[in-house]
Amino acid sequence: MARYRGAVCRQCRRENLKLFLKGDRCYSDKCSFERRAYPPGQHGQARMRKASDYAIQLREKQKVRRMYGMLEGQFKKYFKIAESKKGITGENLLILLETRLDNTLFRMGFAGSRNQARQIVRHNHVLVNGKKVNIPSYQVSVGDEITIKEKSRKVGVINDALAAVVRRGVPAWLELETENHKGRVKALPAREDITMPIQEQLIVELYSK
Ligand code: SF4
Repeated sequence: MARYRGAVCRQCRRENLKLFLKGDRCYSDKCSFERRAYPPGQHGQARMRKASDYAIQLREKQKVRRMYGMLEGQFKKYFKIAESKKGITGENLLILLETRLDNTLFRMGFAGSRNQARQIVRHNHVLVNGKKVNIPSYQVSVGDEITIKEKSRKVGVINDALAAVVRRGVPAWLELETENHKGRVKALPAREDITMPIQEQLIVELYSK
């Protein structure tokens, strides 16, 4: 699957928000955003002009797309699916993104970032309901049990992430049994479970133009 290969921290600086794309580094004083909280590039520190409605909507979409590590085409597909579902499109979109297997793994605490979670899934370390799943975009359902394979329980990045999970906490819609390397999807995420500052209606407005 194609993915963004540029400088990761640049994306946080561009969106003027910590997107937590680099695991432990994001919580340390090495975080680039903490040191240079202004947009990247030659004119990054120039006086900001008033943004148009379109620019505000675009930035919101880019922020969420980058947060979940997606390219434009993939993100748009999620939007189309969200639109075709019953309910509020913006919320449907966020729920679809949250219930991807890579994000679920990250939220449970088995990975320090979504990027890391994606690699853990692709490298066949994960079982869903006892069966191997190596597709990061796999959508989890209520009741699904996510386990780290017996043989993979010594993998350093997984254990490091589990050791740090206390700092991040596990959202209410998930359950984690650290000692068994196991987690469960208790419910679908509610809008209030997604605590990052996201104004999803701006994305809906952008794509509805
Ligand atoms: Fe963003 Fe993390 Fe880089 Fe900080 S360290 S700028 S939060 S990706």
